[in-house]
Amino acid sequence: MPGSETSYGNAGLIQREAIHTHPFPRQLTDMIRVLPNQGTDIRYRIPAILRYHQALLQYWKYSTPASVKKIESEWQTLIEHCTSEHQTMISASGADELITRDGWLQLHRSEETFKEAQVSAIDARNQGVEHNVLNLEELKAMEPSANFEGFVGAIHWKNSWQVSNPSSLVKVYAKNFQDMQGTIKESDVKEIIKDGEGWKVITDNDTYYSDKLVIAAAHGLMI
Ligand SMILES: Cc1cc2nc3c(=O)[nH]c(=O)nc-3n(C[C@H](O)[C@H](O)[C@H](O)COP(=O)(O)OP(=O)(O)OC[C@H]3O[C@@H](n4cnc5c(N)ncnc54)[C@H](O)[C@@H]3O)c2cc1C
Repeated sequence: MPGSETSYGNAGLIQREAIHTHPFPRQLTDMIRVLPNQGTDIRYRIPAILRYHQALLQYWKYSTPASVKKIESEWQTLIEHCTSEHQTMISASGADELITRDGWLQLHRSEETFKEAQVSAIDARNQGVEHNVLNLEELKAMEPSANFEGFVGAIHWKNSWQVSNPSSLVKVYAKNFQDMQGTIKESDVKEIIKDGEGWKVITDNDTYYSDKLVIAAAHGLMI
């Protein structure tokens, strides 16, 4: 049901600053870093790599700098609407108490990554992403109860929003959709076939025909 899978357990950020994608690591230095399978960002299991090898090859293929540039320019036309589109649904479903709009802090442990993040943040300004650079004193003033030992500073992404309960947000959106006579059905999609100008969707218990089709079947990919 809506709000029960990845939408249940995510970090709850409506990430206006997320203008970059996560390409497959292609630099030798990145691959060597990932190989021991000890990082927190990328973990893999060999049987899963074999199982998903085709998807991973596609991911690799579309992670060249030229592809990433093209994909990001298209992606940015979507992400720039994330808060305004959510606001329409938040207002329609009365979900305002689930949202705070004071941004989020991206903390850095090394001067090197902190500097890189600052350059990237300045670039992002051209796309309407607002930020402040905070040194340790400014961070402590902002969050006096937090322990910033080991950190050198932070980027405060100002126009991203936080959701206190992502699952509840999706559930109230779903209820609002039903209140507008929308129908929610649960079934396993077995096959999707192009049908003239439209689509034929075969599930385990029915077949649907439609002019337009949106596939939103993401799972957190654990491989
Ligand atoms: C740890 C973590 C933290 C995250 N934090 C954030 C964040 O802060 N901000 C952010 O924007 N994003 C975040 N994300 C990503 C975000 O959660 C997902 O992009 C989002 O939830 C995907 O929504 P969805 O509806 O597409 O997928 P889901 O909520 O996963 O729903 C997909 C649905 O499709 C169904 N499905 C799959 N295959 C079939 C089939 N064949 N037939 C029928 N149904 C099928 C699944 O069962 C599931 O119910 C995070 C993800 C993770 C894993």
